[in-house]
Amino acid sequence: MKIGIVGAGPAGLYLALILGKRLPGASIDVYEQNPRDATYGFGVGLNSSSWGRMRMADEASHDEIMRSAYFGRHQLLGHRGERILVERDGYGAGIGRLTLLGILKRHAEAAGARIHYDVRLEGLDRFADCDLVVGSDGSNSIVRRAHEAEFGTRSRTLTNRMAWYGSDRHYAPPFLIFKKTEFGYFWSVGYAHTELTSTFVAECDDEAWRRSGLGEMSHDEQVAFSTAMFAEELDGGNLITNNSIWRALTMVEVDNWSVGNRVLIGDALHSPHPTIGSGTRMAMDDAVTLAFSIIENPNDVDAALATFRKVREPAKAKLVEARDRSIAWYENVGEIADRLEPVPFVFDFMMRTGRIGLDRLRSEFPDFMERYGHLAPPDDAPSLALAG
Ligand SMILES: Cc1cc2nc3c(=O)[nH]c(=O)nc-3n(C[C@H](O)[C@H](O)[C@H](O)COP(=O)(O)OP(=O)(O)OC[C@H]3O[C@@H](n4cnc5c(N)ncnc54)[C@H](O)[C@@H]3O)c2cc1C
Repeated sequence: MKIGIVGAGPAGLYLALILGKRLPGASIDVYEQNPRDATYGFGVGLNSSSWGRMRMADEASHDEIMRSAYFGRHQLLGHRGERILVERDGYGAGIGRLTLLGILKRHAEAAGARIHYDVRLEGLDRFADCDLVVGSDGSNSIVRRAHEAEFGTRSRTLTNRMAWYGSDRHYAPPFLIFKKTEFGYFWSVGYAHTELTSTFVAECDDEAWRRSGLGEMSHDEQVAFSTAMFAEELDGGNLITNNSIWRALTMVEVDNWSVGNRVLIGDALHSPHPTIGSGTRMAMDDAVTLAFSIIENPNDVDAALATFRKVREPAKAKLVEARDRSIAWYENVGEIADRLEPVPFVFDFMMRTGRIGLDRLRSEFPDFMERYGHLAPPDDAPSLALAG
């Protein structure tokens, strides 16, 4: 089978790696616009729910990724100057994006995949003789844009703004701290991905964006503003920039996952939202399911693509629903934060995706729930008791 892959991010590299190891005779070419060792982003999170699938798909790269990751279970949540330590939903691992891509690339090449760096594709002509063309080329996918209408593409731009930075400090435990400023709400997320450095995501709501004038600032002015705005959270650390531009996220959806022999995975298929965990894990999970769908149907691309959607869609639909609830919460966070004291605010945050019930909250976060139970307004108490 001749397979052309656009994009050497986590999705494309992981697909090339698994197929290279498990589909004998496959001819796999991956095209990547960036140079061999360049990338954007700092640390990516890999939630424990994906680790078993990664080990099953390829034990050697799984083990190397785990050896290179940082693990954490607690998260510090801040609101109105108070910081509350809560256990997270399952263990999380943080790893540098560059480190992750380096591991996947090495294993994919050792498995026989050819990765062509410094090649920006503008069209799909070179794939004319391929049995399968995979768009793992991220949120602006050219594979998706080549068949925009046939994929049934829709998009919407969110109103909050964010910028991905790094910091030269190691933040443990990871934190998420909200604060009301003279402009509106700003918040930041910090989590370590090496012994010395962390990812630092800076965010604000639409009101804060407009009133602060961030949109009219140069890149250097934005960095200076962000450094001053988040001085307390940075805790002596300096912001590190790497393509770090304040912007609104655009969420792209498609009705069809494939058109003919062209299929989308990762960010090209569904836009992730950082507030429910990293898009990296979703992209790698897509790659695992597509790879095994092809391995099961090595001579029938249509059957492989139908299997991919059938197997992956139920889990993906749940994640997309959780993502959309989380987006709705964050797009409305100013109103929620104005209304709720720190402990009820953290409770509301934990319930925002609708994926965690009260029973699970009580068993996984007993200390926090005890505290919430004492502080909840009387109106909340019956619902807690009923749901228990
Ligand atoms: C600026 C930015 C910073 C981010 N930082 C973080 C972070 O710190 N932590 C985190 O958890 N998540 C981060 N994310 C999200 C995360 O990177 C994605 O969810 C995840 O990488 C998705 O994997 P993917 O393989 O589907 O797509 P991507 O990782 O986006 O990979 C797509 C690849 O395709 C290549 N490509 C695109 N178009 C072409 C073309 N025409 N020709 C050739 N190659 C092409 C790109 O260069 C890229 O390497 C960030 C996203 C962005 C946009």
